[in-house]
Amino acid sequence: MDATELVLVLNSGSSSIKYQLLEPDSGIVAASGLVERIGEDDGRIEHVADGVTTEHRGPVADHTAGLRLIFDTFAETGHDLTEQGVRAVGHRVVHGGEVFYEPTLVDDAVLASIRDLASLAPLHNPANALGIESARALLPGVAQVAVFDTAYFHDLPSAARTYAIDTKVAAAQGIRKYGFHGTSHEYVSGVAARLLDRDPGEVNQIVFHLGNGASASAIRGGRPVDTSMGLTPLEGLVMGTRSGDIDPGIIAHLMRSADMTIDQVDTLLNRQSGLVGLAGVNDFRQLQRRIDDGDEAAALAYAVYIHRLRRYLGAYLIDLGVVDAIVFTAGVGENAAQVRADALAELSPFGIIVDPVANTAKNRAARRISPEDAPVAVLVVPTNEELAIARAAARLCG
Ligand code: ADP
Repeated sequence: MDATELVLVLNSGSSSIKYQLLEPDSGIVAASGLVERIGEDDGRIEHVADGVTTEHRGPVADHTAGLRLIFDTFAETGHDLTEQGVRAVGHRVVHGGEVFYEPTLVDDAVLASIRDLASLAPLHNPANALGIESARALLPGVAQVAVFDTAYFHDLPSAARTYAIDTKVAAAQGIRKYGFHGTSHEYVSGVAARLLDRDPGEVNQIVFHLGNGASASAIRGGRPVDTSMGLTPLEGLVMGTRSGDIDPGIIAHLMRSADMTIDQVDTLLNRQSGLVGLAGVNDFRQLQRRIDDGDEAAALAYAVYIHRLRRYLGAYLIDLGVVDAIVFTAGVGENAAQVRADALAELSPFGIIVDPVANTAKNRAARRISPEDAPVAVLVVPTNEELAIARAAARLCG
């Protein structure tokens, strides 16, 4: 593969960098990997190229060191990115605020704005900015493109994006529903429309992105009209470690009655809630094993998870009126047949039927799991945010 046709996609987290080098038209992945535990003594890179996995362990001081390690490992396995070049670097950026709603070529001003948006995404945007900064230093002259998780939801209808709080406070603090996982919702809904052989502009869909983080969206004719995540990725569905929707009064109650600080409450809701808070595990496979072993806390966690999914399903069915497709994606959505069956159980009066054989068949492709003649198509569509980012980056640099 000609290196100058390839796009490097970087997803920089607070202590990790995930990456892929891929060809945006075909989607062929030349290499992929992960640097983890950045800033700790026991850092590690796992790099996969041509089916061969390379692993190195040792301290990785910061994001620049992490990216340098990625470049060194590429060189070791036959892809010298600095010498051979790449077409562009695509960066996943979590929060675009009100400023960014399209893939954006990064210059100094854009980088500064991404950093400024840290007030809205303190866990994510600073790490995203560090990744961009390091990539610019290592590949000067190569276009760096930021693709925002919030972008797809920028134009949500005002009734859906507005919180019912004092408008002056909301305006001063940039408080609105932004929505996240937008790259995934957009990509998956596009694939779903193609699978149905229909123009995306004609299809109404409900998409469930169920990974460690989880979100739902209602999409009318290709445009989202509602989504479950909000100002931050904390709102909405029950997640691996996040609570999703709670009574906001709980926060004041904890601060007053349990003497918790706001940082403690933030940690509780983001890291010690959801499945981990209810059952002590955030990995869905482990949760299912515990349920099979008769663990009551795990069974309750699962019931709460499904109850929340169905609440959003009901709300979005009414929002859309006519629904052509319900789509499941990401780790849990693509793999956990039981979740799909339970989320949509006993909804045949709404035209929603899951075919048990199709639902449990071993298949990794985008597929239909409802009977052909059911009014609502139920689909499983593997997400591919890296490919969507690579394509957006390639489009932007021509
Ligand atoms: P993220 O990208 O948000 O980190 P993923 O989309 O990779 O998350 O999803 C991770 C989740 O998917 C985990 O809870 C994991 O247990 C779950 N998962 C992965 N494979 C399966 C499977 N075969 N059955 C059930 N759950 C699965």
